[in-house]
Amino acid sequence: MSARILVVDDQPLNVKLLEAKLTAEYYDVVTAADGLEALEKTRDLQPDIVLLDVMMPGMDGYEVCAHLKDDPTLSHIPVVMVTALDSAADRIRGLEAGADDFLTKPINDVALFARVRSLLRMKLTLDELRLRDNVSLQLGASDTCAGGEDSQAGGRILVVENEPFDRKMIESVLAENNQITSVGSSEEALAAISEPFDLVIVSVDLSEDDGLRFCSQLRSRDETRHVSLLMLLEESDDEHLTKGLDLGINDYLYKPIDKNELIARARNQIRHHSYQERLRSTYHHSVSMAITDSLTGLYNRRYLDSHLAALLERSKTDGRPLAAAVIDIDFFKAVNDTHGHAAGDQVLRELAERLGKLIRASDLVARLGGEEFVLVMPDTDMDTARAITARLCRDIEAAPFAASVVDDGLTVTASIGVAVVDQRDHSPDDLIKRADEALYEAKNNGRNQVIAAVG
Ligand code: GH3
Ligand code: MG
Ligand code: MG
Repeated sequence: MSARILVVDDQPLNVKLLEAKLTAEYYDVVTAADGLEALEKTRDLQPDIVLLDVMMPGMDGYEVCAHLKDDPTLSHIPVVMVTALDSAADRIRGLEAGADDFLTKPINDVALFARVRSLLRMKLTLDELRLRDNVSLQLGASDTCAGGEDSQAGGRILVVENEPFDRKMIESVLAENNQITSVGSSEEALAAISEPFDLVIVSVDLSEDDGLRFCSQLRSRDETRHVSLLMLLEESDDEHLTKGLDLGINDYLYKPIDKNELIARARNQIRHHSYQERLRSTYHHSVSMAITDSLTGLYNRRYLDSHLAALLERSKTDGRPLAAAVIDIDFFKAVNDTHGHAAGDQVLRELAERLGKLIRASDLVARLGGEEFVLVMPDTDMDTARAITARLCRDIEAAPFAASVVDDGLTVTASIGVAVVDQRDHSPDDLIKRADEALYEAKNNGRNQVIAAVG
């Protein structure tokens, strides 16, 4: 996952140190020596993360952060405060200014890379959602998400903590602004999670089971994949922290819990989650008919073209890989001929639904027409695209499709052609055409398989 990181510090030595560490991990590093330069470079270079020193002459880090978070064109960029101060009061000041995370000097490499990876993952998803929102806007779809955030609104919080003292404390601190459900084990939590929550606060050491396992269960379920996760752990517990961040927790808090920090972090996460949910529901439900396919509810060709054009241009400018796959049902005409057109429609709808569930949050599926679908995978190289589409192919064949006219359902297979953007692709059509040629080969090769366009 390559990305551009802006390092801001008034001490040249600190800048050099961070630059060396990050460059060694293949991040594209840009630097700024003071607050004004930081604002300018964030605007001009649109980094994916800003690592921001707190103590700087002139405009300090808090002020820079507040400016960034006030600007609607920059507020989505994650800001990590890098500070020599380590009191809860300083962290709260940063959170009030809208910071997404903290690193304490001297910087621990484990914490640095774990946090960078986790924030990048979050930003990547947000970027895709924002891009879709813009495309919808350009295509004249109504009701897009303006991005305004109601910072006062509370949320629904699930607390999973087996220490009665901590549990009571969290409840009492957060109850004023939020709706709290609290439980003492992951078993009870899994039972409670059927209701929607904005934030789950989970202790890493639940007595009979492991808080991390619970986090991974939440991330693998459809209903809870996008919920905000805040982990509670001991300060020295780097091992669990790294694992948690890799599993996709959004934030964490050390015990003993500082009340104000808990309030500030919970509020940040809830705000973030509701913004993401609004963006998501905009493209799931409110996007106008002009860009969706009426049979399957997927995006149509028109939307695909303009979304893909934007992604292609981005990939050309920053070199991020981009993959597309064309998926075509095998012998679909025979399904219609044998079981009727209605059964065929049922299969198309179910395939659309299954594809939607199987793909990652940043991927997108569209119906190209007939029984052909396109899967767009941003930031995906050929090996990954191949692995994803091979799994799709297996999953389509593995479970029969429901059809009202056939009791046991219909076994359906599909052929898939996949291509990754290269210098030959000047338009979305070029990329789709190469994936389509690979698909043609998959058909000739006996169907029910994935073929990759040669690079
Ligand atoms: P192949 O394995 O080579 O792809 O064979 P195929 O039969 O799937 O492909 P062909 O292109 O010959 O036939 C596609 C069929 O898809 C023909 C058409 O009637 C059917 N079809 C296209 N759109 C729809 C639709 O919206 N609903 C239904 N039920 N069928 C559709
Ligand atoms: Mg077909
Ligand atoms: Mg076809």
